[in-house]
Amino acid sequence: MQDRTELIRQDFPILQRTVASGAPLVYLDNAASSQKPVAVIQAMDDYYRRYNANVHRGVHTLSEEATAAFEGAREKVARFIHAPHSRQVIFTRGTTESINLVAHTWGRANLRPGDEVLITEMEHHANIVPWQILRDQLGFTLRYVPVTDQGLLDLDTLDELLTERTKLFCFVHASNVVGTINPVDELVARARAVGARVLIDGAQSVPHMAVDVQALDADFFAFSSHKLCGPTGIGVLYGKRDLLEAMPPFMGGGDMIREVTMAGSKWNSLPYKFEAGTPAIAEGIGLGAAVDYLQSVGMDWVRAHEQEITRYAYDRMSEVEGLRILGPGPEQRGGLIAFTLEGVHPHDIAALLDRSGVAVRAGHHCAAPLHARYGIPASARASFYLYNTTAEVDVLVEALHKTQEVFAL
Ligand code: PMP
Repeated sequence: MQDRTELIRQDFPILQRTVASGAPLVYLDNAASSQKPVAVIQAMDDYYRRYNANVHRGVHTLSEEATAAFEGAREKVARFIHAPHSRQVIFTRGTTESINLVAHTWGRANLRPGDEVLITEMEHHANIVPWQILRDQLGFTLRYVPVTDQGLLDLDTLDELLTERTKLFCFVHASNVVGTINPVDELVARARAVGARVLIDGAQSVPHMAVDVQALDADFFAFSSHKLCGPTGIGVLYGKRDLLEAMPPFMGGGDMIREVTMAGSKWNSLPYKFEAGTPAIAEGIGLGAAVDYLQSVGMDWVRAHEQEITRYAYDRMSEVEGLRILGPGPEQRGGLIAFTLEGVHPHDIAALLDRSGVAVRAGHHCAAPLHARYGIPASARASFYLYNTTAEVDVLVEALHKTQEVFAL
């Protein structure tokens, strides 16, 4: 496994650099954004150098080539997540926009006072705030599935929380703080039993494990390119076809219409109905290259590798005195570990780790309600990806000991 990782590391030029202190980079902030392999950087460079043009409109060579590459990327993404058809892959700016799209279109068309939307205490702000905004406008009720002390969803509460009033159940596939991989099959089955639709936030799952949106029976599924080796500025909303067909458009403008007169307009077919204006073309092509890259490595390998690193990190970090890991044991989590260190503010942890070249994230990780649940304002988070090694975990642990020494003085 280690040899394979060494080869993979060579695909990521940024991993060769040092940070301000002169230490080699140990990049453990992958849950915030991943690094990009040469294949992705080259695919985007190639588009701008050789066939840069707008898509869908022109009949000239460059536009046809750009359209073929952009739509080819959509096909690749559809295969990657096992969508029945690429029409059901809507390009957005990312997970956040995908969830807002569902809120503004499906939500406005289907939610009214008396209805309930169920989310969880473990959600990223991207899966909380859009529902709060819409609740304030439409007057439905927003409820939260509580999280246990161990960082699992408290499923015992579902009997009470999930009822015929529940129209939509939104939950994160893999948490960006406690790391928990939620039992999607059970959650979807429970939602189906009361006739609720489900929206799954896959921002932290699709980059790290094989995902089959049909097997999960997701009504809506959202994720971002930049966390899966692709560029920023593009992401995906997958939806069931009948739902997407019935939904009103999100934004109005070019490309999303079939016909416009002074009196009114008719909408384009899927996926274009939801893609107003010139899309992020280079980014879409880059996302396609990222999917190719991850598939060439194999998502099962990625998951197995991260499990190995996470198990090792969990054990080694547990040895550090005063270090508290948020969330369940390594078997129930994805490749990230959020933690606190007694007597040291998470921002100080991150700043001191940077001196040793270690990049981690500190703050509430856009999950303030979850931190409030644990009675802490913030945490530090180490998050792993396919190019990380156990040797890097050793650097992290050593840097954590050094941090403690600094604060013991
Ligand atoms: N949901 C989860 C679980 C996330 O981790 C993130 C990114 N931190 C998001 C949603 C939002 O993703 P983006 O900022 O790419 O829209």
